Amino acid sequence: MDKERKLIIAGNWKCNKTVAESLALVADLRRELAAVKEVDVVVCPAFTALESVSKAILDSNIRLGAQNMGDNGYGAFTGEIAPGMLKEFSVGYVILGHSERRQFQKESDALIARKAAAAHGANLIPIVCVGETLAEREAGITNPVVETQIKGSLAGLSAEQVERTVIAYEPVWAIGTGKTATSAQAQEVHAFIRGVLVGLHGDAVARRVRIQYGGSVKPNNARELMSQPDVDGALVGGASLEVRSFADIVKNSI
Ligand code: PEP
Repeated sequence: MDKERKLIIAGNWKCNKTVAESLALVADLRRELAAVKEVDVVVCPAFTALESVSKAILDSNIRLGAQNMGDNGYGAFTGEIAPGMLKEFSVGYVILGHSERRQFQKESDALIARKAAAAHGANLIPIVCVGETLAEREAGITNPVVETQIKGSLAGLSAEQVERTVIAYEPVWAIGTGKTATSAQAQEVHAFIRGVLVGLHGDAVARRVRIQYGGSVKPNNARELMSQPDVDGALVGGASLEVRSFADIVKNSI
């Protein structure tokens, strides 16, 4: 598939898998995806498996991501993980502001913006998640909701930092529900997000930002979604927990 930006497909394993299970999955993925060069493939295990998975993907084309991070550095922040701690395990990406964290941990756009700045400060690439709920879509306010999230979650970042940020558009109603946005619905919001980025930092920056789609991505809908001009990859939950489905999503996207 000829794309303006290199696709990035990330697996968000959420709160799943023991260390042994994580190692088994990543060994299978290494084998299955060894020849893939056209897509940046990222796996995001639980914190407890980062060290083991980091060693298991050495010298491979698979990159490592974390699912969250504290907004401070080292210090008296009980229970938090500092950006520098992730760097110890060669983590390259960090998912920020996933809708589950926005919902259950009440994460605000302002907090996500502080985390995104901290990630860039440590040379980690943030994957910043945005997306509307079903009620918001039905009320016809998808665009203003997403615009507020984008502007709030990227507040204070420089143009260079925004350019290196990955955005994941994940309609909340499509996450883990089996309901996927149609490719047209996804493209419409992705194009809208790119327009917001143009307004913030100009056309050249906006054109370089990769915008992933997330929400029940499966092997059978990946190609159609990835073929949309402003869809630059996928953030995959459920289907990333099993080698066959994740590997097929990657292969079907090429
Ligand atoms: C997610 O949690 O980021 C996600 C997209 O989940 P799923 O693929 O299971 O809908």
